[in-house]
Amino acid sequence: MTALAARLRSLARELPAGELRLDEANRAAHAGDKWFARHEPDAVALPRTPASVARILRFAHTHRIPVTPRGAGHGYVGGCVPVQGGIALSLARLRRIKEIHTGDFVAVVQPGVPTQALQDAVEAKGLFYPPDPASRADSTIGGTSPPTLADRAASSTA
Ligand SMILES: Cc1cc2nc3c(=O)[nH]c(=O)nc-3n(C[C@H](O)[C@H](O)[C@H](O)COP(=O)(O)OP(=O)(O)OC[C@H]3O[C@@H](n4cnc5c(N)ncnc54)[C@H](O)[C@@H]3O)c2cc1C
Repeated sequence: MTALAARLRSLARELPAGELRLDEANRAAHAGDKWFARHEPDAVALPRTPASVARILRFAHTHRIPVTPRGAGHGYVGGCVPVQGGIALSLARLRRIKEIHTGDFVAVVQPGVPTQALQDAVEAKGLFYPPDPASRADSTIGGTSPPTLADRAASSTA
């Protein structure tokens, strides 16, 4: 077993069951997006809570393991392809709309909320969320937002 594989197994033991997958089927399923580029990660993280996300990122930072975040994997430019290997970090299980403030037009949501779910939720309150890709039923808020510092930081762990 390689040193990286041993480290990833120890991370899997630190996380709730099923939140870090090392099997070939999951690695293949998280290797690409809707474009043709593919590169298999060494592990797929499927955290259910922000606490797990923090634990994964802390571990990856400590051990210098690359992390590539992904939402629905519906992009066409290879952004979520884990070209450095390491961990594909799927935020798709974090799907809570936490707050919608009608007074100041601010919504607080988790990154895996589908675009359409936020559109529908604000519409029910008489508001409008303008980003409207044809992939709205699947694409996520995290995946449709402009690159963030977190995005760049995650990419630069390589
Ligand atoms: C059928 C179809 C129709 C489409 N129609 C349109 C359209 O009309 N207009 C349009 O502009 N695009 C369209 N697209 C492209 C796609 O909708 C966008 O690229 C969308 O942003 C992908 O969202 P996603 O959740 O799948 O993100 P992913 O593809 O998973 O990721 C996109 C990027 O965001 C990063 N990322 C994801 N989550 C996070 C996070 N939580 N934190 C930091 N970074 C993160 C990833 O690393 C990657 O770089 C379409 C795609 C399909 C398949």
